[in-house]
Amino acid sequence: MFAVGCHLSSSKGFAHMGREALSIGGDTFQFFLRNPRGGSAKEADPQDAALLREIMKEHHFPLILAHAPYTMNLCSAKEEVRAFGEEMMRDDLRRMELFPGSLYNFHPGSHSGQGAEEGIRLITESLNRILTSEMHTQVLLETMAGKGSELGGKFEELRAILDGVNFPEKLGVCLDTCHVHDAGYDLIGDLEGVLGTFDRVIGLDRLKAVHLNDSKNPCGSRKDRHEKLGEGCIGLDALKRLVLSPPLRNLPFFLETPNELSGYRKEIRMVKAWRAGLRHRQVSEIAEEGEDGVRILVDRVWPRGLRKESAEISAWWKEIAPSMGLWEWSHLPERFPEFREMYLQELQHSEKALKRREEVRTLLKKGPVTLLYGDKDEEGNHVNVLEEWILREIEIPEGDS
Ligand SMILES: [Zn+2]
Ligand SMILES: [Zn+2]
Repeated sequence: MFAVGCHLSSSKGFAHMGREALSIGGDTFQFFLRNPRGGSAKEADPQDAALLREIMKEHHFPLILAHAPYTMNLCSAKEEVRAFGEEMMRDDLRRMELFPGSLYNFHPGSHSGQGAEEGIRLITESLNRILTSEMHTQVLLETMAGKGSELGGKFEELRAILDGVNFPEKLGVCLDTCHVHDAGYDLIGDLEGVLGTFDRVIGLDRLKAVHLNDSKNPCGSRKDRHEKLGEGCIGLDALKRLVLSPPLRNLPFFLETPNELSGYRKEIRMVKAWRAGLRHRQVSEIAEEGEDGVRILVDRVWPRGLRKESAEISAWWKEIAPSMGLWEWSHLPERFPEFREMYLQELQHSEKALKRREEVRTLLKKGPVTLLYGDKDEEGNHVNVLEEWILREIEIPEGDS
């Protein structure tokens, strides 16, 4: 399954994060186990963790991803910093046993003048004291922007660390799109080339997760400033190609964009719609372009209310929709909450639901499906209950959509 989520605050506990992820359409999430800038950590509440495990099971979260504190530096020139980092990671991994099969991501660190080779040696030695054959978490090295003496800006550096550890099956890589772009890999012009290089140097089988971020800076800037999807230098086209890229198809995606929950909700939905092959068109735009069927809808049917006119909509739909390559229409702004509920109920529970599910699957396999929407809500989301249903209920078909 295609799992997408975002970074969430852990201040209200594990189960709260699970519910929050669900509320924005996510199937996974990333979080800090402790203060990202300091070191302190509350002891985990086993009951709270059990609640999250239940949520994950019920809603098919494949895993979750814990991010190590930014202050952790396993290759610091200072012995006490390295020792403290090691202690934090060991303690974090002990907590992660509450969620077997999950991921733990960390920044390799900054060698601060000791040189890349020495840095790699220190990180590898630390990992060899931390990783055990019994642990149930996979540890991930994050690809970095390479600012200052930061390691991980070159795939070769990650490869050297992977090569040095005693339990290689416990260590993988998380690809951060902003960092890789900032480090100078051309995701915009040569995605295939970058993934080819990754495969040759590291091996795509070692790639276990993607941080999906736009970047405030151009390729090669070595800056590491994340941006909302589509508002930065990478742009929606390149990010979409990456999300649809076959080698990345089975990986979980995590957003670390500068967003509130509503912004994350929008991005999760957009990324899922890419995978599902859904396109959006606003009814009024098509009406202006002069499609007759839509003009009929806008002029005659719509203003008179939906419920009364559903027979007329159906008739219109049967006649016009196939020729336009559009399949379904639903206009469900906030002001028709009862209709929205009714429609969702029908999609989920009616006798027709199973058949419709099959129809949607077949349609999605054929190619992009255009969803018409009437309005956007206050946050600029398309209001389309069918889309909501597709993204929640329909398994997104394999293959290049
Ligand atoms: Zn990170
Ligand atoms: Zn990241």
